[in-house]
Amino acid sequence: MSTTEPMVIVGAGQCGARASQALRENGWDGAITLFGDEGLLPYERPPLSKSVLLGQKTTAQCAIYDEAFFREQRIDLRTDAPVAAIDRVGHRVVLASGDTLGYHRLLIATGSRPRRLDLPGATLAGVHMLRSVCDAHAISAELRPGRRIAVIGAGFIGLEIAATAVALGCEVVVLEGASRALMRAVPEVVAQCLVAQHRQRGVDVRFGVHVERLVGTARVSGVQLVDGTTLACDAVIAGIGVMPCTELAQAANLDVENGVAVDATLCTNDPRIFAAGDVCSFPHPLFGRRIRLECWKNAEDQARVVARNMLGHGEACSSVPWFWSDQYDMTIQIAGMPALGTTTVVRETGSASRVFFALDGDGVLVGASGVGQTGEIARDVRFAQELIARRACVAPHLLADRGTKLRSLLAAEAQ
Ligand SMILES: Cc1cc2nc3c(=O)[nH]c(=O)nc-3n(C[C@H](O)[C@H](O)[C@H](O)COP(=O)(O)OP(=O)(O)OC[C@H]3O[C@@H](n4cnc5c(N)ncnc54)[C@H](O)[C@@H]3O)c2cc1C
Repeated sequence: MSTTEPMVIVGAGQCGARASQALRENGWDGAITLFGDEGLLPYERPPLSKSVLLGQKTTAQCAIYDEAFFREQRIDLRTDAPVAAIDRVGHRVVLASGDTLGYHRLLIATGSRPRRLDLPGATLAGVHMLRSVCDAHAISAELRPGRRIAVIGAGFIGLEIAATAVALGCEVVVLEGASRALMRAVPEVVAQCLVAQHRQRGVDVRFGVHVERLVGTARVSGVQLVDGTTLACDAVIAGIGVMPCTELAQAANLDVENGVAVDATLCTNDPRIFAAGDVCSFPHPLFGRRIRLECWKNAEDQARVVARNMLGHGEACSSVPWFWSDQYDMTIQIAGMPALGTTTVVRETGSASRVFFALDGDGVLVGASGVGQTGEIARDVRFAQELIARRACVAPHLLADRGTKLRSLLAAEAQ
């Protein structure tokens, strides 16, 4: 299949890079142009808060594909070419340089960016956020033994950074305004389990604390709380959530609703323009609502689906969300949407491993969160993912009983 116009992808991240490859794999023989703005080969972000900060992996090792791959696949990767506008009438993108390029189909895969701290002192040296390779290098330089690190936000990024910093010998305080960690992501019992691990390792985790300002002259030297207390620190790292990068879509009058609004096939309200990955919100058939996911597997899954749909397949994106995080020697794996559950059922899968199942008001399994050793939780979370996909009603006592194989429940569901 080929036209003279290329397939154009804006955003050379996880989703954009994978979609470019999937277009080729699905038979697109014409031109593909992938625009990035970071000046780097597309790379995986998950290691940035884990093995990269720990010094176990270099940022170069995070590249998704090497240069030869793009050459061989005839994908025109432009790593330093921010797209400034979409001209929907002329079917072309306008680069910040002023150049333009026509598109046959356009994919917006611009991802998300960290929310900025809106506080006095937020621009002092020593105040960081983590999204990019550049941020990881800057944070790495801060994490030295004995340094006092204040992490603002007890979400996944904040907790991963805290775990890494403490492993590197830093003194770490985590400041969270809400009454508990991971408010949107997991049931309270799971959050408590994780926080207990952090406290055991010496991280000072505080909830219900509100930061008034960051203090310091040129460089940050403390965090002043609303109650007047000041905590001395050598660096601040904020992990207070992300915002989808929707500016291009908004300026082009595409529908935006907590992300670029797409239909089940990941198509925007312009039939030539698609969006996928962190940047889009889509109607999830299983949960009967529009959701936006900020996770690696979603970027991977949607890249495959969107590439096929850019080629006219019209497939719905319905995979069950799946997310993981690594903290200390523990893995956390989450399938589905545990936050939609009204009842939590616990299964002990190892001496320090648990899987927490979330059932909604009708007894339908809507989420599973595993915490512990990978080998002791991964299988149950994987089968739970399939049960969630089938909207299975599973008796709580079977979920709680370690002796009941979820695989057998799956087989029973299939009959
Ligand atoms: C530190 C960190 C740790 C993480 N850990 C995990 C984890 O453990 N598990 C998990 O499931 N997920 C994790 N994630 C989330 C996961 O990495 C993201 O969900 C994934 O990267 C999303 O892929 P994406 O392609 O949608 O966006 P991105 O990977 O952010 O790529 C978007 C790209 O588009 C570029 N761009 C934006 N605007 C333009 C423009 N106008 N022109 C050109 N280029 C543009 C951006 O600079 C970026 O390079 C982590 C994320 C971070 C930051």
